[in-house]
Amino acid sequence: MNSIISDLKQIIAGEVSNLEAELAAVSQDFGGIIQKRPQIVVRPQNSTDVAQVIKYAAKQGLTVSSRAAGHSLGGQSLNQDGILLDMRNLNEIHEFRPDELWFKADPGVTWNQVVDTSIPHGVIPPVLTNNFEVTLGGTLSAAGLGLSSFRYGSQADNCLGLEVVTGTGDIVWCTPEANSELFYHVLCGYGQFGIITKVQNRLRKYRPYTRSYFLCYDDLDTLLNDERRLVSEGCIDGLVSLFSPCLLGMSRLETKIKPLIQWFYRMQITLEVDSVNDINEEKLLSGLNFYRHIHTEDLTFDKFIQPIGQVSHPVGTANTWIDILLPGAKAKEFIDIALQYIPSFIDFRTIPVGSFCLNSRNHQMPMFPLPEDELIIGLGMYPTIPKSQLKPVLEQLNLLTDLGFQMGGKRYMATWAEFDLPRWRLQFGDYWPKVNEMKRKYDPNGILNPGFFKYEPVEQANLKSIYVPSH
Ligand SMILES: Cc1cc2nc3c(=O)[nH]c(=O)nc-3n(C[C@H](O)[C@H](O)[C@H](O)COP(=O)(O)OP(=O)(O)OC[C@H]3O[C@@H](n4cnc5c(N)ncnc54)[C@H](O)[C@@H]3O)c2cc1C
Repeated sequence: MNSIISDLKQIIAGEVSNLEAELAAVSQDFGGIIQKRPQIVVRPQNSTDVAQVIKYAAKQGLTVSSRAAGHSLGGQSLNQDGILLDMRNLNEIHEFRPDELWFKADPGVTWNQVVDTSIPHGVIPPVLTNNFEVTLGGTLSAAGLGLSSFRYGSQADNCLGLEVVTGTGDIVWCTPEANSELFYHVLCGYGQFGIITKVQNRLRKYRPYTRSYFLCYDDLDTLLNDERRLVSEGCIDGLVSLFSPCLLGMSRLETKIKPLIQWFYRMQITLEVDSVNDINEEKLLSGLNFYRHIHTEDLTFDKFIQPIGQVSHPVGTANTWIDILLPGAKAKEFIDIALQYIPSFIDFRTIPVGSFCLNSRNHQMPMFPLPEDELIIGLGMYPTIPKSQLKPVLEQLNLLTDLGFQMGGKRYMATWAEFDLPRWRLQFGDYWPKVNEMKRKYDPNGILNPGFFKYEPVEQANLKSIYVPSH
């Protein structure tokens, strides 16, 4: 162990540590479900450091995982017994070109830093997630979805270029044109094919004011139809829905007393404008079939984009959050089942449940597989539960995951996921052999971020057709 520390200290400029407190600090992620402990934490100072660590690890038979703000929920940013690269010291914005609508920065830069820099110039990244403490490298490795994703895709879809250190320690600049294969697999690739050491991303101009309408629906089909219409017409700038249960009494018809629950669906649509007087409210709202218009909110753009509140994470709890991506045509059927099912295993009155929309035409990333439909509905459930309840809750969430697959859905892998090989095959479908091929090509020693992805055993990897298990 000491020799690893001294070897690494000789070959890199960044920090190397095996202090107990530092290892403990990176042994858990925001999910609080999975624990893994690396032998060593390295804080690289540049891409050469990252390349040196990877080459050294390959020689020593050690694994290397990348971690940034640690907001993953299923252990994606953890490492067991190997080297953990904490990317947060790489945190400078190098070039900021509001006139040309792009910036270049280190992967450990937070979206907070980007927003603070960009707002005074009248520009903004096209997509922002609901948490600005996370990093460029972290969300580009996942996808990065937000209120405007139905218009602009994910944050990864707005990436213009990446510097990547591959699993062989090569430092490569890649774009959609140059080294495009690496570019398209590192994005949304969860650190499987390389470590991002620099990012070039798009910006867009924003308008100074926003108006949001909060519209309540008592019927899921009506909500989904209105969402389909709004997404296809492209007349709004932000869209998200939150589902609220209302307990209306108890039924004694069956042997067990059953709560009578009516779900309400609150859609929030936002327009970004030069002046709120420009909005033709009558035209916009008269085409929608909501049950009640409950609130109108006018905010300056910079206030509107700020995430709402911090999520608390009390000691002894875990965040068993999942996002299921559904084909629009199947969304009602799936959501109805899920909402009926939830009250039996989590306290449905306190967990945020909601949906977001994506338009598959705006998503180009093969490592972010989507259901086959133009309108994609993302159903998000974000329970925080006592750790003592983990086993039964995770079992139920796995059942919902499998039901989603049966209905042609996919999972957003940034959230909690317990995937064996059959589930990975379902997640990627026909693309799965290519994912395996890319892993063998860019990380031939299999040292990058082991554990979360499960790959085909090598002799199986050239399977022409994919075995799809029945559930
Ligand atoms: C409160 C909260 C709110 C959230 N809201 C949203 C939301 O609105 N939309 C959304 O899309 N997601 C959301 N997420 C999920 C979050 O965006 C992802 O988990 C994201 O990956 C976290 O980024 P991070 O910087 O914490 O990365 P980490 O959690 O540290 O890492 C995540 C993954 O990225 C990899 N990685 C990190 N840095 C690099 C690098 N430099 N090179 C290669 N791989 C790297 C890691 O290996 C890991 O696989 C939310 C999460 C939380 C906890």
